[in-house]
Amino acid sequence: MALSHSLGFPRIGRDRELKKALEAHWKGELDEAGLRAVGRELRAAHWQLQKEAGLDLLPVGDFAWYDQVLGHSLMLGVVPQRFRPQSGTPTLQTLFAMARGASSTTCCGGAHAQELTKWFDSNYHYLVPEFSADQRFQLSWEQLFEEVEEAHALGHRVKPVIIGPLTYLWLGKTKGQAFDKLELLEALLPVYGEILGRLAALGVEWVQIDEPILGLDLPQDWKNAFERAYHLLQHAPLKKLVASYFSGLEDNLGLAVGLPVDGLHVDLVRAPEQLPLLVDRLPAYKVLSLGVVNGRNVWRCDLERALIQLRQAEERFADNLWVAPSCSLLHSPVDLEREHHLDAELKSWLAFAVQKCAEVAILGRALNQPADAAVQAALAESRAVQTSRAASSRIHNPAVQARLDAVVPGDSQRLSPFAERSARQRAQLQLPLLPTTTIGSFPQTAAIRLARQAHKQGKLSAADYTEAMHSEIRHAVQVQENLGLDVLVHGEAERNDMVEYFAEQLDGYAFTRYGWVQSYGSRCVKPALIVGDLSRPQPMTVEWIRYAQGLTDKVMKGMLTGPVTMLMWSFPREDVSREQQARQLALAIRDEVQDLEAAGIRIIQIDEAAFREGLPLRKERWAAYLDWATEAFRLAACGVRDETQIHTHMCYSEFNEVIGAIAAMDADVITIETSRSDMELLEAFERFAYPNEIGPGVYDIHSPQVPEVAQMVELLRKAAGRIPLERLWVNPDCGLKTRAWPETEAALVNMVAAARQLRAQLA
Ligand code: GLN
Ligand code: ZN
Repeated sequence: MALSHSLGFPRIGRDRELKKALEAHWKGELDEAGLRAVGRELRAAHWQLQKEAGLDLLPVGDFAWYDQVLGHSLMLGVVPQRFRPQSGTPTLQTLFAMARGASSTTCCGGAHAQELTKWFDSNYHYLVPEFSADQRFQLSWEQLFEEVEEAHALGHRVKPVIIGPLTYLWLGKTKGQAFDKLELLEALLPVYGEILGRLAALGVEWVQIDEPILGLDLPQDWKNAFERAYHLLQHAPLKKLVASYFSGLEDNLGLAVGLPVDGLHVDLVRAPEQLPLLVDRLPAYKVLSLGVVNGRNVWRCDLERALIQLRQAEERFADNLWVAPSCSLLHSPVDLEREHHLDAELKSWLAFAVQKCAEVAILGRALNQPADAAVQAALAESRAVQTSRAASSRIHNPAVQARLDAVVPGDSQRLSPFAERSARQRAQLQLPLLPTTTIGSFPQTAAIRLARQAHKQGKLSAADYTEAMHSEIRHAVQVQENLGLDVLVHGEAERNDMVEYFAEQLDGYAFTRYGWVQSYGSRCVKPALIVGDLSRPQPMTVEWIRYAQGLTDKVMKGMLTGPVTMLMWSFPREDVSREQQARQLALAIRDEVQDLEAAGIRIIQIDEAAFREGLPLRKERWAAYLDWATEAFRLAACGVRDETQIHTHMCYSEFNEVIGAIAAMDADVITIETSRSDMELLEAFERFAYPNEIGPGVYDIHSPQVPEVAQMVELLRKAAGRIPLERLWVNPDCGLKTRAWPETEAALVNMVAAARQLRAQLA
């Protein structure tokens, strides 16, 4: 019999119950017992949902109070010194202190939080484990075992999920004295042995050990370490399923199939091409778990196509074939049934976590009982959905296709090279040396959010809403003029979110009401859905920017989100490539850029905050991605005259490996985050001899602290040591929407003073 299982279920709750409980707990409105009760109810509900959906084996260990990597750190006793409780084992309070930092009154004498970073190529963020050279490991957290007992008590057949030892070490960072973290493996493995022993003692038959790094380019010593580690763990008295996901095994396939474990899970959505080789190479006495239902997107599975894949493995693996989602369902929204407002057609194309479990189950059943009526009905329905989508006019827009076909290479190139453009822009813009500007947004005050909400609910007329936003723009312009900034922005008051704001105005997008996905801790995002060919029916920002420009003689910068970021922060289509979707977005934004230019706007910024995070997990695929990503940006940006200055903004600080692509985007000015890295990152720009202008952020907007003038002068001096002065801009690290006005004004007064001081000194 084939078996169906899941790698993990979203923990946040269909109504974000966990988010609400966590935030209430942090505010002191819900005690620990209350919080624990919410967690227990959610786990029980989620197991029940998965069981009712028809899964045979349910995951345990996918629930986390903040993040599964953090939970795992606690289990292994990886608690940095600054959070160690005076006595005894860590508590929930320790966990939250590690996640969120602690003030001196709450815990640990005050300590900064652990670092957050992206979980592989997803938009989920985990807390980076910190390892010291004398790191010890010790079983310190009972949550997993308690939850196994909880599930058993409810009568469920479960499969605990843990992060594998190699992936766990890979994800961590060494602190203090430098050392190779792989050296920690020997000390770590006994604790894994202990965990597996405890699970076996609880009557667990199978454990899932997540090793997604099997899909990465691994150094040889890490590959060797895999063999060593699993040889040591093989004696644990329970069966082990090693799970890879997000990427194909490729050169690690031989390693993975040879590990002394009882089963292997692979992601056939991301890497279907690995199937024949796997079927051939994995010993048939092992379990092969095929991830055929996409855990990273919202579209209904093409069951017939998935079944074809499963059948390729069926003959050789027979009873050892398992059916699963490609990865944990953590990355998909919870339950489509909540979406009452969606029209029936669109709804019929979608599947969220609950529905994906049912898809997995029906595929398992299709293998076991092909003639079953429910199976036949599900296959027929799936076929009907695929046919309806393929032919739907909602998806296919011939005008968009025709436009794409008509694109010629010149469309993604500026008319003249940078040197010529730059001379024209200087003549036209008349900016001082070291021009000052901001990244776009000003504080999103409670008043702004209230006005937006009231407008959405129909309580504030369109005219009154426009006036409320105009008044915000007037205020922002006035403040900037008083501050003496050189290039102004309108402040983005009208925008809820840098992607959703544009998505709502494009044809081809759809929106869910409850499609929340955990981003980190209690934070969730609700990505828009790219349903069909994308186009811009009418201008999106022109009226706001024109209004703002009308208030001042200074240059007003128009503000847009770029095609790559729009794509990366949406749920994409699966029937056309990401590249095609990026090109469609690029053409829509190009129209906006041209309309802004025609409205007299002389500087236009196209934000690409997600440009770097689109990088594929395997280096081999980087070049192809960077090619189409830079091409999409240029297609959006290059439809303007030489005199029009194009800016872009990226808010992170690792450019070394992508600097060539950044230069290929050919923006006239790029503003980036640098203050926290002390301008170090400009080294990449210097070494590459980055040809265009740069605005390295001179202060960190993530902190309410007001930066000193001298501090910023110092940073600017450092920058000037690497980048020619006439190509330097002065700006904060990122947008100011999360800040309040008083600190924003105070910081910008100092920033302008710093620029002036340096100008005077250097003149
Ligand atoms: N223009 C946007 C802002 O200032 C940029 C935000 C971002 O890059 N994340 O808010
Ligand atoms: Zn930013």
